Amino acid sequence: MPEWYGPYGGAYVPETLVPALQELEKAWRESRRDPSFQQRLRTLLHEWGGRPTPLYFAERLTRENGGAGIYLKREDLVHGGAHKLNNALGQGLLAERLGKRRIIAETGAGQHGVATAMVGAMLGLTTEVYMGEVDIERQRPNVLRMRLLGATVRPVRAGQRTLKEAINEALRDWITTVRDTHYVLGSAVGPHPFPSLVADFQSVIGKEILHQSRSRFGAEPDLVVACVGGGSNAIGTFHPLLRTRSRLLGVEAGGEGGGVGAASLSRGSPGVLHGMRTYLLQDEEGQILPTESVSAGLDYAGVGPEHARLKDSGRVEYVSVSNAEALAAFHLLSRSEGILPALEPAHALAEALRRARSLPRDARVVVTLSGRGDKDLAEVERIGDPR
Ligand SMILES: *Cc1c(COP(=O)(O)O)cnc(C)c1O
Repeated sequence: MPEWYGPYGGAYVPETLVPALQELEKAWRESRRDPSFQQRLRTLLHEWGGRPTPLYFAERLTRENGGAGIYLKREDLVHGGAHKLNNALGQGLLAERLGKRRIIAETGAGQHGVATAMVGAMLGLTTEVYMGEVDIERQRPNVLRMRLLGATVRPVRAGQRTLKEAINEALRDWITTVRDTHYVLGSAVGPHPFPSLVADFQSVIGKEILHQSRSRFGAEPDLVVACVGGGSNAIGTFHPLLRTRSRLLGVEAGGEGGGVGAASLSRGSPGVLHGMRTYLLQDEEGQILPTESVSAGLDYAGVGPEHARLKDSGRVEYVSVSNAEALAAFHLLSRSEGILPALEPAHALAEALRRARSLPRDARVVVTLSGRGDKDLAEVERIGDPR
């Protein structure tokens, strides 16, 4: 896996971090060839994390929607309620391998913070999580979860007081503590090797989709859809499918409509943020624009560099979906299938439903349901039900 994805990626970091990033890359590459590491990861993902997750045929939803069959890759059933665990566990084991006894993380909606706190507890590591004050306020239950799991939550007061600033603080911590601390970055973003190793740990999603589709349909899915915040569940979904005939579609948060939302690929331009060159929502002077989305997990001005290349090459198509469309899909799935999705994958579902309607009935559309909606109940209640 490369350091650069075409003109994107790289490692724009202070010199003090370079040895740590090199050490991390070395440990990760060695771990990929180490059967005992792979066995431990597989066993923990299975017995502790609940993998493999099912591929569920949403029959009533398909009937109501019309057109192609809709299948849900149930990452909402992973321990902790989202795909975040796949990455946090992998990196926790790498921290252990590096002999580091302290892990830090950033979190927006709190899902990555919770996943990291669960891993920290299970491996007996000291865990500290940076979180913007605004997010602490709107994601109370996840803050409580992290504390009960033994993690320290560190409020971040700078700027917009959300995810971008939490990443800044975590990077700042890491620069001074790098000897005994590993930074568990939560998405396929940041300096090399993070985008590559996060994609690697999340690829378990796409591998299972491929295997489940082939054994069930004798073929790959016709269309595969995932939501894109930093891009980790999407890259993990897409990676193993890049060389197949499946069409791949990434869905960003369009926000209220009108503004930029958080659609870095659809409405951004190339620049440098958080140690990587990628598509960003920025003004003419390169200042990061404020973002806006109903889903905290998609509310980020950047995106993983591999998505930037996949967009330019045309292998993956990227579109954006508005808050209102995502909410409609949230309610539809809840009532037709008895599954409360997180608001992030509700964006992917909204676009998948639209595409499925113009596909033949024997076509198959797979949507990665990256997480469950428990964390979003207060937000959905605040907005109110359109019906
Ligand atoms: C964090 C999160 C996302 C967005 O992050 P990616 O790195 O783009 O996957 C999407 N869905 C859920 C449920 C999340 O918790």
